[in-house]
Amino acid sequence: MGKQTTRLDQKLIDAAIEQATIRFPTGCAGAAAIYTSDGEFLTSVCFDCLNESANLCHETGAICEANRRNYTVTALVCVSRESPTGSFFILTPCGICKERLARWGFDVEVAVPHESGPTQWIAKTLSEVQRFYWGKPGARDGLNERK
Ligand SMILES: [Zn+2]
Repeated sequence: MGKQTTRLDQKLIDAAIEQATIRFPTGCAGAAAIYTSDGEFLTSVCFDCLNESANLCHETGAICEANRRNYTVTALVCVSRESPTGSFFILTPCGICKERLARWGFDVEVAVPHESGPTQWIAKTLSEVQRFYWGKPGARDGLNERK
């Protein structure tokens, strides 16, 4: 198998949906998928337990796996559906996951819901979704100047 793209594309969305469907064939389902600069993709699902404050986002496992392998994350998607007959919605990463992704810089792409509806996606960079990121000196000017 040859190298895949490292840019966010429909294949990455499909990989997340496939992972979600395999892990959660009934009821609500969700999963995340990431591309790395090596052209690999990794998937993961949430971890829920009795103490909800100890739960983990769908993205966390793939982020940790990329770190374990010393890969550079280039793109991430997260999908979720409410029922087996429902459509998968695109979920923008939460604030904590965006903090984790910033480790790989502000050009990491994430899928966000398209204005035409939550089942459609567009790719945005962390710079675009974190325009006023706290970690950037002079954050009011946006992240693009940080490169
Ligand atoms: Zn998260």
